[in-house]
Amino acid sequence: KKLNIALCGLGNYATMLAEGIQASKYCHLAGIITGTTAKGEKWKTQYDIPEKNIYNYQNFDEIVKNKEIDLVYVVVPNGLHKEFVIRAAKAGKHVITEKPMAVTVNDCEEMINACNQNNVQLAIGYRLHYEPTHLEIKRLGQEKVFGKIRFIEASLGYKTYDNLDTKTIVDKNDRNEWRLNKKLSGGGPLMDLGIYCIQASRYILGEEPIAVTAQFGTVNDKNRFSETEESISWQMEFPSGAVANCNTSCGYNIDRLYASADEGSFELTPALSYGPFEGKTSNGVLKFPVINQQQTQMDEICKLLLENKKLPNHITGEEGIKDIKVINAIYKSAESGEKVFIK
Ligand code: NAD
Repeated sequence: KKLNIALCGLGNYATMLAEGIQASKYCHLAGIITGTTAKGEKWKTQYDIPEKNIYNYQNFDEIVKNKEIDLVYVVVPNGLHKEFVIRAAKAGKHVITEKPMAVTVNDCEEMINACNQNNVQLAIGYRLHYEPTHLEIKRLGQEKVFGKIRFIEASLGYKTYDNLDTKTIVDKNDRNEWRLNKKLSGGGPLMDLGIYCIQASRYILGEEPIAVTAQFGTVNDKNRFSETEESISWQMEFPSGAVANCNTSCGYNIDRLYASADEGSFELTPALSYGPFEGKTSNGVLKFPVINQQQTQMDEICKLLLENKKLPNHITGEEGIKDIKVINAIYKSAESGEKVFIK
């Protein structure tokens, strides 16, 4: 048996997920939830989706009656994750939501409660938790293969817009327009990309940051970045004394990770994107076979759900909320200029 998935939001990343689901062993793309009728028609033909498994944002709650759908995967803008996760949970469906889990800690708590109350499981789409190079750096760090980690550098940025000068007017047809809208995105590249730097630092160390300092970067395009940051840098302090120095931006390209330990180091470039990843340790090359990240993530999650097993802690809502707490602290520090302690 395969677990039947309905994708909610048919944008760019949903297309990558659909390909992963198509290639998977343990799940099947059985339904869609979309706000655009024409897109629904296209997906219906492309993925052979029965009419009765197609919903829009208004009639979505009727999915409660549809025994053919087991899980809803929410891939809409960040500010809408909460609404759709709660609606899916109330319909008795397991839920995966994309990162970042939501835009506030309160929203994350409501999502966790809704899933618990309706006896469904909640996962966050942390694709790198299944990627072999990342499993290895997690092992190198947490098992202290090169001794105690003292310092991490993690950066992820994409030059997302063509024109970064003060004369640019926001293009209203820009595919990334919602990412510039604070209500829909919750923030700029920190929400979208910086979260990978936070995650990697946390899973290399196996610790939670206790304090952060942060600085907003230069704003080259004041029209476009009136609500969200263009770039941000931050430093996280961990209980062991380790420090992580991180950057994210949609004004420049960067994708790298470096960890310095007492008896060596390890690094990846590229490190946090879709790969393929390459790197080295003090002992030599760090390279693993390339996998389909979305397929592997879906198979690992769906296999457990088919066996009625509990999902592992590192992908659940309780994990997602930890990143949002750190992100909140980073914004608070960048705004105040003060070090912010995380409780
Ligand atoms: P996108 O703009 O390509 O797609 C967003 C989808 O949401 C579109 O289908 C759009 O129609 C729909 N939508 C519904 N309500 C909307 C509204 N009010 N405004 C705008 N769009 C609305 O974005 P995307 O890149 O697919 O990102 C979607 C989610 O996936 C985000 O949470 C993002 O962080 C996440 N994501 C994750 C990864 C990853 O590697 N895990 C990669 C990219 C994006």
